[in-house]
Amino acid sequence: MQANIDEVQRRIAAACARAGRAPDSVRLLPVSKTVNDERLAMAYTCGLRLLGENKVQEAHRKAEAMAGLGDLQWSIIGHLQTNKAKVVAKFASEFQGLDSLRVAEALDRRLHVEGRSLDVFVQVNTSAEHSKYGLPPDEVESFIRALPAYTALRVRGLMTLAVFSSDASRVRPCFQRLRALRDRLRQDARPGVALDELSMGMSGDYEIAIEEGATIVRVGQAIFGARPLPDSYYWPTDTES
Ligand SMILES: *Cc1c(COP(=O)(O)O)cnc(C)c1O
Repeated sequence: MQANIDEVQRRIAAACARAGRAPDSVRLLPVSKTVNDERLAMAYTCGLRLLGENKVQEAHRKAEAMAGLGDLQWSIIGHLQTNKAKVVAKFASEFQGLDSLRVAEALDRRLHVEGRSLDVFVQVNTSAEHSKYGLPPDEVESFIRALPAYTALRVRGLMTLAVFSSDASRVRPCFQRLRALRDRLRQDARPGVALDELSMGMSGDYEIAIEEGATIVRVGQAIFGARPLPDSYYWPTDTES
């Protein structure tokens, strides 16, 4: 596992160098869905302190099991059902997948109950055919304008899943779209709404994402090994893969 982490970090640094960016301008978010508790403990030993998960129940169970480690934090990634907001508000430190005001409202209400706040990323559908989740790019501006009303949410940036393809010429435009959108919206962002972060890129495409401006890459399989289940299990509406 340590060798995999080192290799991913090395590739991140190399992609940054190619793009003329500082190596510390990209944060690695290791994605530990399906990884068992024993290997999570190993991940902690390897120095990982923030792990991404996209099934809330699984993440919450792991958070409870690992609570003794104290400084291990959890990022929920991908579309969230409104009825799961309550659980997310209890334990997550970050949520990458906000794509409806109903979810924003539910999270904000539960966060106030818990006396917590949450870093959030707005999910944008940059590939149209890939998934029904994420906002269409032309709806993001008005959506973000509504978010300051939810005072427990700290808007950090945008997140996307590129089209699921090994063809870089199809993947890259998704990342370019997210970056262009972020650059445009950042010009007149409200106080309290930061649009500095671009969360894009996974095991198969994170180097391309970095070349296109990613500040966070979400990497699972390149660190933890191949998952036994296909991604359609995690992204139920994925019709392409
Ligand atoms: C699983 C997942 C990832 C990581 O995918 P890998 O192929 O394991 O790198 C990134 N983002 C989201 C939303 C995911 O669900």
